[in-house]
This record gives sequence, structure tokens and C-alpha cells, in this order.
Amino acid sequence: MTLDLIIRGARLSDGAAPVDIGVAQGRIATITPNIASDAPSLDASGGMIFRGFADSHLHLDKACMLERAVNRTGDLKGALAAVTAAKKDFTTEDVYARGARVLEQAIGQGTTLIRTQVEIDPVIGLAGFEAVKQLKADYAWALDLQICVFPQEGLLNYPGTEELLRAALEGGADLLGGCPYTDTDPEGHIALLFAMAREFDVDLDFHLDFDLDTSWRHLDEVARQTIAHGMQGRVAIGHVTKLSMLPPDALEQSVALLKGAGIALTVLPATDLFITGREHDHAVPRGVAPAHRFHAGGVCCTVATNNVLNPFTPYGDCSLPRMANLFANVAQLGGPEELAACFAMVSSDPFRLLGVSDRIEVGVPADLVLLPCESRAAAVAEIRRPVWGMRAGRMTFEAPAPRILRP
Ligand SMILES: [Zn+2]
Repeated sequence: MTLDLIIRGARLSDGAAPVDIGVAQGRIATITPNIASDAPSLDASGGMIFRGFADSHLHLDKACMLERAVNRTGDLKGALAAVTAAKKDFTTEDVYARGARVLEQAIGQGTTLIRTQVEIDPVIGLAGFEAVKQLKADYAWALDLQICVFPQEGLLNYPGTEELLRAALEGGADLLGGCPYTDTDPEGHIALLFAMAREFDVDLDFHLDFDLDTSWRHLDEVARQTIAHGMQGRVAIGHVTKLSMLPPDALEQSVALLKGAGIALTVLPATDLFITGREHDHAVPRGVAPAHRFHAGGVCCTVATNNVLNPFTPYGDCSLPRMANLFANVAQLGGPEELAACFAMVSSDPFRLLGVSDRIEVGVPADLVLLPCESRAAAVAEIRRPVWGMRAGRMTFEAPAPRILRP
């Protein structure tokens, strides 16, 4: 067998001995301790090789727009109002340019799989969707993009939105999202989305319970509908910041509820920390759902970017190790197993949620990313930036470590 490339000294799991990975015709041809071959090689130096990070919740269409949309109140209402006003001027070219900037940052951070939430309503129409569809095709050399179309401005309160969502699903959208808290009829919103998801046979991904008031929530209705429609394993919920305010007993009941209904939980720490708790003038709650508790209870959990440089989150570099570290810090997690769980929430769990295998074995495409550390916990603790990535054996980015120049 003729190898095109050998990656030498690669660690495939925590504590495992380094191995060599032989690549032929874009696929992994062999994995063994010492490949005797004079094919070109890359030295992983004992670093971790994995399939890359997966961002399960990232808004490309409203990224990088701080100069044209200001959040006047700092809270969710202020962010929604700012984007609604600015959206009138969105064009396909404009969304494409801002989305491309974000995707190129994500590629450089070692992200290889993204679910992007795209707003659909009668003002933006399908302009954002068309731009993201083009981005999906144009960046397929580096990453897989899953398109989740959703009614950010509400569904039942906004005539014309349902028809546009249907057009997007017929035009190549991968799944359907929801945002019941912006609808005048949240339960009707949830019911219609489940009906449409069944009709089109697609997964669902809700923005849900995005405040800190525990006197009401939509989670129970989403869980009920998930079970009623037999959609266990096909529904995800994002934010759910109300969960951060639950005492231990109620939290345990919620863990059992999600586990039983097969619902995945996504936390978006940068946005959740920036937006929630604004009603407090001191001792501000953290407002980040304790995903580690759900993860330990067997629920598929992901930590994701959500927004980059917009009124919801005026920060962002698309680094998922940074996001995992932020979550670990907020959730007060420091042990090696706790940090490894945080790593799973930006890698294996979102891969599972998006229905993509992250196995590295003979025969699969050589889609590989190198992390300059020996364990998952270290990657999170030290926010280690991937050094390079490849797709089907072709290099997609390089980010060499800084070189110290001694006197
Ligand atoms: Zn979102």
C-alpha cells in the first residue's frame, strides 16, 4: 500500500501511547505504533489527534454587526430589538460576507462541524438562508454546516413565516428551530413546529426558557410533545437559563425529564452570562444552566458559541476550547474528569447531536485536527489552540505555536 502521508506520534485518547496514522487517497489507511515508510510525515509530538470541535449553535446570519446594532438595555429585549431593526438592511451578499468571516475564524480554531441557526420571517425572507446555503457549499472543503431555520420573531403572531419556513425546508434546510418566548402563542408555536418536523422528517432545535424566572417554563410542554411524537433523540433545547435557578431536588427532576424524553441541552455561556440577570443591581446570578449535572445524568449536552460580535454577545473568536473553559470556570469545575466532560461538550456530544460520527479508525476520511496537549482536560484548562487541521488528507489550516526568541 502506498501512503501519501504519515502523522507520527499522535495520541488518540487520554493516557494512550502515541501511534502513527497512515493516510492514503484521503482516508486513514493504517493506525499502528511505528509505520516503516519514507512517505512525507507530520510530527504530532505526542499531541492529541481528534476529529475537531463541533459548534452545535452558531448564528452566522447576525454575526459581526456591532457597528450597526446597539443593545440599548443590555438585556434580551434590547438585543432582539436591535437585530430586528438592523435586519431590514440584510442582503444575501451582506450575510454571506459576515458569515464567511466567522466560518474562517472557526476553521482556524479547529472547528469541523457546525449547526447554524438561520432567521426566517417576512422581512428577511429567504435572503439569509440563501447566503448560508452558499456558505455551506463554498466551505465544504473545511467543515460540515447543518442549517437550522427558525422563526426568531415568532411564528403564529407573524403571518407568512410558516410558508417561508416550508420553502426553506423544501429548499435544503436540514432542520427546524423554534423560539416560543417571542411568540404571542408559545404553546401553539411549539405544537406547529412539532407537526412540521414530523411532516418533513427533520430534527428540532429550540431556543427555550431564556430568563431566570422559575414561576413558568416551556420545557415541560416541549418534553411532552417530544414523547407524544416519538421524537426522542431528535430534539435539542438551547439556553434554558431558568435551570440555573433550580434548587437540587427540582434540578434532579429536570435531569430525569430530559433524560426520559431524550432531549439534548445546549448552553451558550457567553450569551447567557451577558444577557441574563440584568434585573439585579448586585449579586447578579450567573444564569448558565448546569449542563455538567445533566451530562453526568446521561443527557447529551453541548456548549456552543451562539453569537459573535452582535447585540446578544459583543465578543467572540469562535474558539470552542475557550467556551468550554468559560463554562468550566462558571460552573466551578476543575477536576480532570470534570474538565474532560467539558471537552466532550464541544466535541463528542455535539457530534452525536448532529448525527455525525467522530470515530478515528481505518477506512474513514482523514478529517483530523491536532491539539498540542496530552489530555482533554489540559485542552480545556489551558485553552489549547489546535495547531493544524486536515480534511480528507488535505491541510485546511495551520496555527503554529508562538516561538520564544531568547536574547
Ligand atoms: Zn441562538
